[in-house]
Amino acid sequence: MITARRALILEELGLLPRWVPRANARNAVELPESNGGAALPRAPVPRAVRAEEPASSDAALRTPAHPTTNGEVDAAQRVTRMSWPDLKEAVRSCTACPLHANRKQTVFGVGDEQADWLFVGEGPGAEEDARGEPFVGQAGKLLDNMLAAIGIKRGNDVYIANIVKCRPPGNRVPEAAEAARCEPFLMRQIALIQPKMIVALGKTAASNLLGTEASIGSLRGRLHDFHGTALLVTYHPAYLLRNLPDKAKAWEDLCLARDSMQRLKSAQAAPK
Ligand code: URA
Repeated sequence: MITARRALILEELGLLPRWVPRANARNAVELPESNGGAALPRAPVPRAVRAEEPASSDAALRTPAHPTTNGEVDAAQRVTRMSWPDLKEAVRSCTACPLHANRKQTVFGVGDEQADWLFVGEGPGAEEDARGEPFVGQAGKLLDNMLAAIGIKRGNDVYIANIVKCRPPGNRVPEAAEAARCEPFLMRQIALIQPKMIVALGKTAASNLLGTEASIGSLRGRLHDFHGTALLVTYHPAYLLRNLPDKAKAWEDLCLARDSMQRLKSAQAAPK
């Protein structure tokens, strides 16, 4: 639910009326009346649950629509109640999808657990798999430069995570079922962090978070609403390494993100 204050802030950012992604054939569902009848796809975007919310309310909306067995639903619901240590352990020992078989280790995510910024990539590559930290290869160096461009530094007010926590073989794009198995972990990370701004890096992050197959070109350059949190889509750093001219567009996106964050903070600091 968006509180009145949050609605004011979203309005300030030009995010109201709420952006409604086109219903995705894969998972378009009717939403209950309480959502104002908006045709938001329920999956693959379970609502980011605030950490302090009681675990029992509205459980259906917090449970990814992908799990197909009772056991998977139970497991996903358990994740919605986990503390950071429990969540880290659950990821570390996860065998829910075939990606676990080839990993050296899981790559949970890194950074400030109360960050205003959350950057979400696709999945670990070889170096990340070896080191257990996201974005430590060439793409990671560029990501660090992108962060620096908007005045942030890895570990300080920013958290970095991926759609999947295990390396897909050959760095292929994670399959929908693999992303779905990992989804409760990222949703719980978002709920615990409560970022003010999510930056989706590349198509895999954007399509899994927003539930759309739309291109980056059509999604970038504006803010989206991820269940009450501002979300910006930009190019993945690995793509930018191969397509240097698009760096200018990524720079524009980051400037928009930085300016929006400033407005968000000013709106939140303003006397009620
Ligand atoms: N690419 C990603 O999307 N994530 C990483 O952690 C590394 C490379």
